[in-house]
Amino acid sequence: MKKIDNLNFEELEKAMVDIGEPKFRTKQIFDWIHNKTVDSFDGFANVSKKLKEELLKNYEFTKASIELKLESELDETKKYVIMFEDRNVVESVFLKYKYGNTACISSQVGCKMGCHFCASTKNGFLRNLTAAEMLRQIYLIQKDTGEKISNVVIMGSGEPLDNYDNVVKFLKLINDERGQNISMRKITVSTCGIVPNIYKLADENIPITLAISLHAPSQEKREEIMPIAAKYKLPELLKACDYYINSTGRRLTFEYIMIKGFNDSLEDAELLCKLLKHKLVNMNLIPCNYVREVNIKPSANLDIEKFKKLLTDNGVNATVRRELGSDINAACGQLRNDFLKI
Ligand code: SAH
Repeated sequence: MKKIDNLNFEELEKAMVDIGEPKFRTKQIFDWIHNKTVDSFDGFANVSKKLKEELLKNYEFTKASIELKLESELDETKKYVIMFEDRNVVESVFLKYKYGNTACISSQVGCKMGCHFCASTKNGFLRNLTAAEMLRQIYLIQKDTGEKISNVVIMGSGEPLDNYDNVVKFLKLINDERGQNISMRKITVSTCGIVPNIYKLADENIPITLAISLHAPSQEKREEIMPIAAKYKLPELLKACDYYINSTGRRLTFEYIMIKGFNDSLEDAELLCKLLKHKLVNMNLIPCNYVREVNIKPSANLDIEKFKKLLTDNGVNATVRRELGSDINAACGQLRNDFLKI
């Protein structure tokens, strides 16, 4: 049966007309689904019994439930394992930053990108998430925490630009002022660098922040840890980034996980400066998280600071990502892997 919460406003309008309802009722139904975020037709308090029955005959809600929750004792971070109807699970995280309550959500069950340092890819790829399954992660987090989410990052498991249509549909739905009304400017989409879809996203005319997982300062090193780099070479990726910056006018974020002894030398920083000088970018330096299956260690704090200084001294904007929820292992994908083992 069709999922009612996976329809955008126009699709819902058509659905209403199809079951013989006037168009103007759409707003009321959309409000129950995406503003009040009820997840059953029973919850539609001011809707006639007849209409509820008609909806029930044709549609159902996307089912999702919190299966496991870990709460940090150091800060407000909460990590969730969320299960869908087919018993597939993903991870989602609630993070409280000064600038707002942030939900980190997954876009796929597993991932096919195979980045060596990433836990999300270790059990392979299972399927794409629908737009509604991405929304549900946020609605469940809001219900559980009692807090309104103001910022969204698509940095959980999966490669968002490998699930392009569903992700763009999700972005437009979460941004809809008749629903959650989360500003596009407060949404970050992170990609390992699927070049054709970076161009496509640039032309979508939605002012989100795009983050590129760069992680290495040269083609050679990037290819060593990210299989996607062999398909889309660094010069090609940077060209797509330039196109994105020029056509959207938005500052691009680069993510750079710092792996001890691999990509954290001052020579690496110099190479990065050469690549990124004069570009409208923000370099996010992230000490890598320990992943059981891989032998990598985070760079020493002092090395990260030296690396950052060299970048900023050369005009490349750089920040070090503050770690939240370190006691509950907020690193991508690890909780899900543990859950699968149980
Ligand atoms: N597939 C997308 C988004 C998901 S991952 C992407 O590649 O960008 C979100 C971020 O976490 C990415 O920058 C990813 O490279 C990073 N990441 C993965 N494993 C990590 C680890 N062990 N330590 C730190 N960051 C990691």
